[in-house]
Amino acid sequence: MASTPVEALPPSRLIVDLDAVAANWRQLDALAAPGRAAAVVKANAYGLGAVPVVRRLLREGVRHLFVARLEEALALRAEVPPEVMIGVLNGLCPGEETMAAEAGLVPVLNDLGAIERWGAVASAREARLPAILHLDSGMNRLGLDCREFERLAQDPRRLTAIDLRFVMTHFVSADCADDPRNAEQVALFHARRALLPSSPTSIANSSGIFLGSFAASDLARPGAALYGLNPTPGRPNPMRPVVTVEARILQLRDIEAGETVGYNATWRAERASRIATIAVGYADGYQRVLSNRGVGWLAGRRVRIVGRVSMDLVTLDVTDVPEAAPGAVVQLMGPEIPPDEVAAAAGTNGYEILTALGAARHRRVYVGAA
Ligand SMILES: *Cc1c(COP(=O)(O)O)cnc(C)c1O
Repeated sequence: MASTPVEALPPSRLIVDLDAVAANWRQLDALAAPGRAAAVVKANAYGLGAVPVVRRLLREGVRHLFVARLEEALALRAEVPPEVMIGVLNGLCPGEETMAAEAGLVPVLNDLGAIERWGAVASAREARLPAILHLDSGMNRLGLDCREFERLAQDPRRLTAIDLRFVMTHFVSADCADDPRNAEQVALFHARRALLPSSPTSIANSSGIFLGSFAASDLARPGAALYGLNPTPGRPNPMRPVVTVEARILQLRDIEAGETVGYNATWRAERASRIATIAVGYADGYQRVLSNRGVGWLAGRRVRIVGRVSMDLVTLDVTDVPEAAPGAVVQLMGPEIPPDEVAAAAGTNGYEILTALGAARHRRVYVGAA
């Protein structure tokens, strides 16, 4: 008989703690009370894998999901019972309406043209079709601007064929708790939506949930905080860590003082050094800008990335870590090195760090999967 196959430890792993995602959602849902929290799972659940994340969240009782595009919504539809709302934040491109209606999706209507097209499909089907109306309150990105809003308010019959599930807006700077724009946007939003047929409201993203009661609404739309990013920058992170990226040491070498490491020799050893090469690079979502800036965690110690991040490899100075050995595992992101810290070193935000993992080659491991 064949012996039990030994599963080789892969060169690198992306470990997603679904129990932590679930706990984060429960915390956000409690903070959103008496409203509810949706789950924003756009961009493949911020790179972590939309299907396993959604399966776990449905078990927790999530009843509202948001993606950015129609294709993302269609891909999830089969996973999600019909009574669970799938909102499409970017709205629909002209021509996508029939497909969206047939799949029972809930588009965000971002302008008068979208309202008209969705209303026309509803009339043709002799049904009121569900939708979310987006009122822009300062982002100047998507949603009805003030001129379009006035035209709608003067003629709300434009909405008669539409079952308005929510009226929403989106914060410009919810991550800056003392930015006066936050309260101004909410006031403008309420003043405008009061002139429309009454319907539930949806305001806060992750950070907005922590702004206080003025930002409360019937449905919060957290994404980042579900995945462990800190929704309260500058204060301790109230969320549980979700993501770990780790890679194995492929090779170790000892170099003399004065030798250099990696492409273009951007790092020179000041002392005799031990260099570990690990199996992660910018093709794995580990950005090249982290060359000579990023850190790893090995055997209980922080180790520095030295030299350029290359496509498939990163080199670390492990001179002070006697446990360093071929096959040993280095954490590049995780409980010891939060994605927000990696983001700060890379000069970006945690969102970009996580979404970059979406197309990466890591073996994906889901802890607490359904
Ligand atoms: C992405 C997005 C969210 C989620 O934002 P987080 O900061 O990740 O919580 C909410 N609303 C809209 C309109 C979005 O585009």
